[in-house]
Amino acid sequence: MDCIFCKIIAGQIPSDVVYTDNKVIAFRDINPLAPVHLLIIPREHITTLNDISEQETMLMGHMLQVARQLAKQHGIATKGYRVVINCGPQGGQVVQHLHMHLLGGRELSGGMG
Ligand code: AMP
Repeated sequence: MDCIFCKIIAGQIPSDVVYTDNKVIAFRDINPLAPVHLLIIPREHITTLNDISEQETMLMGHMLQVARQLAKQHGIATKGYRVVINCGPQGGQVVQHLHMHLLGGRELSGGMG
């Protein structure tokens, strides 16, 4: 499958991995928008949030737990951070593999788009 994030999971293209388990991996965004900008993605290829089945809602909960843990490890838990999932063209999703952005380390604007 021609998916850049599947290639990162397979180790076919390099990335700065900060967390891995049997369900997800997390790595630094190549074009960071904040001092901490991590992407948390499922190992399984799921295209968008729309493609999450009811059984997979546990996976979303796990991704949020990983985001919280990474926020703590990267020193942004107390001051605050943002978790974002872009979905589909109007949602600004560029990479067609479900991912959660974890952003922090600076004052983020209050705007939502
Ligand atoms: P989105 O707009 O939500 O689809 O975000 C995709 C994100 O993936 C962007 O913030 C990109 O900078 C990031 N990205 C694209 N390719 C790579 C890569 N090879 N390694 C790390 N991050 C990437």
